[in-house]
Amino acid sequence: MSECLTRSQMRALLWHYRIAGEGQLPEPVVTAWWRELRGHTAAQVQAALASVPAQRVGRVSAEEVAQLVQLVALAPQAAPGSARPPLPVAEPDRVRERARFAVAGQRGIRAVYSAMGWTRPPEAEQAGRVRCPYCWAHAGRVCRPITRTRDGRREHRDPDTRMHPSRLAAARERPGAAAPARGAAGHGAVSA
Ligand SMILES: [Zn+2]
Repeated sequence: MSECLTRSQMRALLWHYRIAGEGQLPEPVVTAWWRELRGHTAAQVQAALASVPAQRVGRVSAEEVAQLVQLVALAPQAAPGSARPPLPVAEPDRVRERARFAVAGQRGIRAVYSAMGWTRPPEAEQAGRVRCPYCWAHAGRVCRPITRTRDGRREHRDPDTRMHPSRLAAARERPGAAAPARGAAGHGAVSA
């Protein structure tokens, strides 16, 4: 894969899309966004931002963009080895695809995956059904890019699932969520 997003590329993208308003970009904003997205390439982040409708891009959150980037990264055409130009020409198909990501991304990550016909790791699927006890991300949303709470608790999100460890643990402890292999037995319990 190509090299990961740098902090200055993150700043440039935030600036370009006016994500933190018109004025000077606060450094904590740049840092928060960069922490969220630095596992990806500048091209992937750019593609994700470009997929957000223009009237929404100024209000998009880092985690929404992370969802989109994740989809771009997981998409078959973006597999390692298929080097793509950093700013692909937006053919009609790609525009439609991006619009579909954007709309689904606003509804939640499960909707994105089902819209695209993709599957998630079971652990992420389970954790997505509970509210995060650490960052309070709602069920169906990815965790926020928070690494320290006001009371000083530190947690970094799991890089594969983009969920806080507390949330993954909460999902494991939740009755009915732990054993998907048992079929429909515990299914009725998961209807939050
Ligand atoms: Zn969380």
